[in-house]
Amino acid sequence: MVQHIAVVGASLAGLRLLEALRREGYTGRITMIGAENELPYDRPPLSKQFLVEGWSEEKLALSKAGVAPLGAEWRLGQRATALDPNALAVSLADGSRVEADAIVLATGAEARHLPFERGLDGILALRTLDDARRLRDALAGAPRVVVIGAGFIGMEVAASCRAKGCAVTVVEPLPAPLIRGLGPILGERVARRHREAGVEFHLGVGVSGFEGEGRVTGVRLADDRVVPADVVVVGVGAAPAVGWLEGAGLAIENGILCDATGATSRAGVFALGDCARWENARYPERPRFEHWTSAVEQAEVVARRLVQGKSDPHAAVPYVWTDQFDLRLAIAGEFKPDDAMHVCLGALDEDKFLVLFGRGGKLVGAVGCKRPRQLNAARRWIAEGLAFDEAIAQAK
Ligand SMILES: Cc1cc2nc3c(=O)[nH]c(=O)nc-3n(C[C@H](O)[C@H](O)[C@H](O)COP(=O)(O)OP(=O)(O)OC[C@H]3O[C@@H](n4cnc5c(N)ncnc54)[C@H](O)[C@@H]3O)c2cc1C
Repeated sequence: MVQHIAVVGASLAGLRLLEALRREGYTGRITMIGAENELPYDRPPLSKQFLVEGWSEEKLALSKAGVAPLGAEWRLGQRATALDPNALAVSLADGSRVEADAIVLATGAEARHLPFERGLDGILALRTLDDARRLRDALAGAPRVVVIGAGFIGMEVAASCRAKGCAVTVVEPLPAPLIRGLGPILGERVARRHREAGVEFHLGVGVSGFEGEGRVTGVRLADDRVVPADVVVVGVGAAPAVGWLEGAGLAIENGILCDATGATSRAGVFALGDCARWENARYPERPRFEHWTSAVEQAEVVARRLVQGKSDPHAAVPYVWTDQFDLRLAIAGEFKPDDAMHVCLGALDEDKFLVLFGRGGKLVGAVGCKRPRQLNAARRWIAEGLAFDEAIAQAK
């Protein structure tokens, strides 16, 4: 009988799990362990509204009604340092130990760094509220900003910095921005919007080092050109925050390996959110989704499993959104550059469209720009295994 659940990672996945456990009727003890000092806050606005629209920190709170009604014990500012899966116990940085009947790992991901950052001032990353505070302060006075990496976060930061009046250059070794998330054609479409706004790009070239002593003054490219910079934002992706689990005997491979209900390789230990790779009947390669919606949906599954013992395998179709200038894109499913692509509604040079992707005659992915209703329908169709032709016909 589970009477005490310890959740490591007090952010989106952790909070949504806590809420789902209470909704499912669990009345036992819950301890929330979080490395950050803040109660759970929302990360997506950190690269968008927090930088551009000056959102307050209060507005970022994930639990609008406050966390008191959820009746959990909060151990904030406390990093978990080790897991003992035999005793179902977690050691904390202050030397204390939390023992429970079930442990849920929701430690998310950490920003990757470049090996040659040399501790120079002015080189920033963006993962936490602390990072966002630093970046927002650094943007005062409209400095020259170089963004390294043209993935979702790099491109959102580039758009936000430009909107704040900064001169912005993006450096990316791949030939177009957002290739992994959107493919080359849509990636180029987004790049066009950035160029119209005055963002410059160095594509197909990597970074070999930084200029400056004490403080960064420029970014050296692999072809030896130097791009002057007052502020550099390194947006080269995130790695699962699992270093502290070394030696715990959990199966970990670019994330904590879980079955399709969040159970890890050790009994009584579960994982969800950005730190976890769930089995997914739809995607045999078992991708690790770093998406807000995945964390929320997985929380429901883990809560049901813990409270009702129900293990309905979860085979979610991934969903993620990104806002860059006035482009509001949502992406469902997964697609590759050689998948069939069909623009169903609008046109790519307009600011409202729906694009579907097909493989082997089936709908596998969709990208909508300001088409939320149609994009949600497409996500459902992917889940149902709708034929590509049929999806095109229905979307029109
Ligand atoms: C700037 C930014 C913008 C984003 N924009 C979007 C977007 O537009 N759309 C979208 O779908 N997704 C977006 N995401 C991704 C989304 O925010 C994540 O998928 C989501 O936050 C994952 O939630 P999580 O709880 O799994 O992990 P996290 O939010 O990373 O939370 C993990 C928590 O665990 C804590 N922790 C780590 N290690 C330990 C430890 N050892 N002990 C205790 N605590 C620990 C961390 O400090 C953190 O508070 C964005 C992310 C960022 C950073």
